[in-house]
Amino acid sequence: MHHQVKPVLSGLPFEALAEILKPLPHFRAEQVFRWIARGVSSFQGMTNLAIPLREDLEGRFSLYSSVIAGRAADPDGTVKLYIRLYDGERIEAVLLTDGAGRKTACLSTQAGCPLACVFCKTGTRGLTRNLDSGEILEQFLHLRSIEPEIANIVFMGMGEPLLNLPELYKTLAVLTDSRGFGLSKRRITLSTSGIIAGIRHLAATGPAVGLALSLTTADTKLRSRLMPITLSNPLPLLKDVLYDYQQQQGRRITLEAVLLGGINTRQEDSDALAAFAAGLDVVVNLIPWNPVEGMVFEGQALQEPSRREIAGYIQRLEGRGLKVTRRLHKGRGIAGACGQLGALPEISEQVSSPASRVGTWLFHVKSHVKI
Ligand code: SAH
Ligand code: SF4
Repeated sequence: MHHQVKPVLSGLPFEALAEILKPLPHFRAEQVFRWIARGVSSFQGMTNLAIPLREDLEGRFSLYSSVIAGRAADPDGTVKLYIRLYDGERIEAVLLTDGAGRKTACLSTQAGCPLACVFCKTGTRGLTRNLDSGEILEQFLHLRSIEPEIANIVFMGMGEPLLNLPELYKTLAVLTDSRGFGLSKRRITLSTSGIIAGIRHLAATGPAVGLALSLTTADTKLRSRLMPITLSNPLPLLKDVLYDYQQQQGRRITLEAVLLGGINTRQEDSDALAAFAAGLDVVVNLIPWNPVEGMVFEGQALQEPSRREIAGYIQRLEGRGLKVTRRLHKGRGIAGACGQLGALPEISEQVSSPASRVGTWLFHVKSHVKI
């Protein structure tokens, strides 16, 4: 017989929460919704509910489904959390601090990634499964338990957000709901490798969050070798949907380019990137490749770009009137920088946080065992 798993409340958009809590009245659902957004550690902490109600809810539902399994801190201020899901799967979420001290939560949307970009560690492990909205949202709660003031959220952790649209939409609905987290859409950005159908869907029905395209190179042949997703999502069509997205949402788009030493820093690459950008309102974000051991491209070890390559690239783009920013190597010391997520390190430290009760996790593991 299977043990019944208690439904998890953390990732439910308000309407779904109100539905599952029926016949409790609407205002009770609002109270629970707000408590989750505040990161309450248990139903017992919901002090505006009568104690028998708290106990009843605790018997029927789980608040959260994941726990912090470890953390690593880089001297540059970056913190990476290892998070364990109910089925034992491990994901990572990162807290970044910029030069002005602003904090950004970098969240994962999948355990692994199916797209196998040759320069990305996450891509090497393949896809295990999509994360559900609770698992995505809890990453934010876990990060907020170590840093209460987080200004921005980026979906740039493990996985391709646009291959997990239903759960992404639920997550965005919860995050932007004024009854709970109440985050502005302007503070949320998602990064995609260029899934045309997903961008179309987002333009038509999704919330107007910021969009970043991991372009890396606009040379079709080279991009197909570096990012195989290019073969089924051709660049000219991709540009068209970006244009439509921009018309629809009216927001500047970010073009990200991972710079790989000796591979995509040539004049042809900056020319092609500038041509791709023409007609779009973009800022180009250059990301010098963060080393991942053992990564090879067509028999050659990948390399960081030299200072000269980076400077030349920036100069050529700026010469064409493009706005260029350069991403710093935040979190390198703990393999928490872009593209370095996906290792399975030793658990460094057991940490407790509001949304991380080992008890919950054990419950879930047990309840998945067939007996
Ligand atoms: N799958 C989505 C979002 C996650 S990846 C996407 O690809 O956009 C986040 C960013 O990290 C992407 O821009 C990706 O190109 C970049 N990246 C991947 N591996 C990297 C590495 N080793 N060094 C620097 N950036 C990397
Ligand atoms: Fe997946 Fe993005 Fe990594 Fe490519 S860069 S393998 S799309 S996570």
